[in-house]
Formats: sequence, structure tokens, C-alpha cells
Amino acid sequence: MLTDVLFPAELQLRVDGAEMEKNTVNISVASTNVRSICPHCQAISERVHSSYSRHPADLPLVGYTVRLDMAVHRFFCDNSYCQAKTFTERIPAFIQRYARRTDRLATRQQNVAIEAGGAIGQRVLTILDMPVNLR
Ligand SMILES: [Zn+2]
Repeated sequence: MLTDVLFPAELQLRVDGAEMEKNTVNISVASTNVRSICPHCQAISERVHSSYSRHPADLPLVGYTVRLDMAVHRFFCDNSYCQAKTFTERIPAFIQRYARRTDRLATRQQNVAIEAGGAIGQRVLTILDMPVNLR
């Protein structure tokens, strides 16, 4: 139920819990994807190598900033012609590779920045629980 409210079903994410820490809610999320496409050769893999955590910021929730503790998979690539032996799972509709914030948060922050500009946009985003660092 909570997962359905927070994340579109197509993302295949499961909420495992949440903890409060001052003005932040840390939401533990795990990918339930059982297969992924190798970004190097486009082969489909269903063989999980390991899991690792990402910690992106996400949209605020009832006055709290949100940080995800997101468990995603590393898969084996079994294509013998591929240079990659393993690859990390991508969730392209939600977060980009190496990103420290979700796409939906980045879009909101960019929209405010475009409308309000640098310093004013930063203050507005802080009020809206989506703080940014301009440095
Ligand atoms: Zn591959």
C-alpha cells in the first residue's frame, strides 16, 4: 500500500521501512526486478551478482525531506562477447546513473530554478523541503 503511494508500480520497488532523523525521513526501498538489460550489449540477465545501496534524495513527504536507502542489484552479463562481466541495475525512469537525486526531484528543482533563479530559487526550495546546494 505505502509502496503504491510512493512509487509507480512499473519501477518494481518495495518499501521495507522508514526512519525519522531530525527533518528527514529515510525510506528503505529495495528493487524487486529479477532481470535487467546489460547497458553494454543489451543482453538480458537474470543472474544476480550482488546488491548495493544508493542514497538519493527524493521528493519531500508531509514536510520532511526524503532520503532513500535504495537496495539495487548488480547482475552478471553472460554474453561471452560482452566486455562487461557484471553491470549495475538501471532504473531509467526514476534515477540516472551516479545521480544523487531522483529524476522527479531534479525536475521540480529545475523548474523552480528556471522560474525563480539562483538565490531566490534556493530559498524557495528550502521552504518546500527540497534544499539544494548552489556550490
Ligand atoms: Zn553485456
